[in-house]
Amino acid sequence: MEQALAFIQSYGPGVGIYLLVAAVIGLVLGLRKGRGIKGAVFGAILGPIGWYLIGRWDARGKSCAECGGINPGNPRICRHCGINLLAAEKRTERSRVRGTTDSWRG
Ligand SMILES: [Zn+2]
Repeated sequence: MEQALAFIQSYGPGVGIYLLVAAVIGLVLGLRKGRGIKGAVFGAILGPIGWYLIGRWDARGKSCAECGGINPGNPRICRHCGINLLAAEKRTERSRVRGTTDSWRG
């Protein structure tokens, strides 16, 4: 911690602000892939290169049919909007088929 403080003092507070911004951007990008903390670490250490790498990650977990959020693991309930993921998947499959049929009819 003292080393980190000395580093920030010698390179000016701009480095601290840069690390914070880079980590926050990494966190936001990582959350979209279901890996927020890892995204923050990548952003802080690697900066724009880290953001690029985060963009190449595969989305881990189950994407919500209702809100599009990624749920790590294999949960039954969406942690973003709280709906039942299994029921939502079945419902969207049916409405997707119905929607396609409707658009064919004009
Ligand atoms: Zn959701």
